[in-house]
Amino acid sequence: MKHEKSQALFAQAKQVIPGGVNSPVRAFKSVGCDPLFIEKAAGSRIFDADGQSYIDYVGSWGPMILGHCHPRVVEAIQEAARLGASYGAPTAKEVQLAEMVCAAYPNIEQVRMVSSGTEATMSAIRLARGCTGRDKILKFDGCYHGHADSLLVKAGSGAATFGVPTSPGIPADFARHTLTATYNDLTEVRQLVAANPGQIACIILEPVAGNMGCVAPLPGFLEGLRELCTTEGILLIVDEVMTGFRLAYGGAQERFGVYGDLVCLGKIIGGGLPVGAFGGRRDLMEQLSPVGGIYQAGTLSGNPLAMSAGITTLELLQQEGFYQQIEEKSAYLEAGLQQAAALCPVPTCLQRVGGMFCTYFCAGPVNSFSDASTSDTAAFSRFFRAMLDQGINLAPSQFEAGFMSIAHSRDDLDQTIEAAAQAFRSL
Ligand code: PMP
Repeated sequence: MKHEKSQALFAQAKQVIPGGVNSPVRAFKSVGCDPLFIEKAAGSRIFDADGQSYIDYVGSWGPMILGHCHPRVVEAIQEAARLGASYGAPTAKEVQLAEMVCAAYPNIEQVRMVSSGTEATMSAIRLARGCTGRDKILKFDGCYHGHADSLLVKAGSGAATFGVPTSPGIPADFARHTLTATYNDLTEVRQLVAANPGQIACIILEPVAGNMGCVAPLPGFLEGLRELCTTEGILLIVDEVMTGFRLAYGGAQERFGVYGDLVCLGKIIGGGLPVGAFGGRRDLMEQLSPVGGIYQAGTLSGNPLAMSAGITTLELLQQEGFYQQIEEKSAYLEAGLQQAAALCPVPTCLQRVGGMFCTYFCAGPVNSFSDASTSDTAAFSRFFRAMLDQGINLAPSQFEAGFMSIAHSRDDLDQTIEAAAQAFRSL
């Protein structure tokens, strides 16, 4: 693989963009090579500035479950663009997407669109605080919910990659309202709740944690949180920005049968355009301005291009057998990777839930961020680079999930497994 053009663009970018990127993990800092600059994508593949193609398991960090450039999504965006990029006024498309979201999630009676996952979680937290009149929130070590001040405490994803549990710039006074617990440790959550009686507005979590690799909730964990929240008058916020419309049409909540009071969505509902959403019970949502007094707004919220991409994406996800196919492709890849990993001199642990997966370089199982932290990240980096050299694009961090799309063919998967066997052996 040649990377001259990507490298030249990166050097140019670093002059005018901090670190050359608009989101930190894109810089490939933790994997010891320069990032690829992408020129275009199609189906399961992305193409770099040097004209080389890669089988893509990043999928724009989750949204591209249909693969890149699905012709119907492209058409929907083009058609919307011809009618005007943005009006700052209500449209029928917003209503249509809101209806689709409410139909998919039985606990979402009303939903408000925003422009990113960060905005969704930030707004849901404000709503939870406003509705309960309580200030504290509880999150889990290694769960990432975007970069709002109260949530950038013991966050996973890029923050974990860079070992910055709390970013400078966040007043200690904000961070002290954020309690953190160990993922999958219900006892610790109960202790924290008992130690802060009547003070916790909400518990927010990733129902499957994709920002510390791929960590499933242990049996009883989600159910226990649900029960505790109900008993204590705490609102449960299920952050389905990554898992929503991915693990099932009704997300992780449908898959595990445990439902939050508020739900955050993003990624897939925008079909690759900037969208987030938060929703929940009507009595909670109607406390938002202009009905209630809790303020939240956005110039580009409900943007017609984004709504069109989202509506068409969700329509396509409703095709018979869609999630079954994602499951089968992902299980096939998992089995192949598992076999290939037998050749690896470093211990490995593959974890997968539906179309989300991760290979850790430790014995496992990985049930929490401290477990994930035992992974040999130097081995991961070598594996990542060996895969990239063979045309396989994985997320450039140990603490991220891989994503399957419907466009990945059997050939793509076989090629990936073959490359992995080679990469594992080379460690
Ligand atoms: N919540 C979760 C679970 C996420 O994975 C992410 C982003 N990866 C966010 C929130 C933030 O979304 P955004 O990057 O769109 O702000």
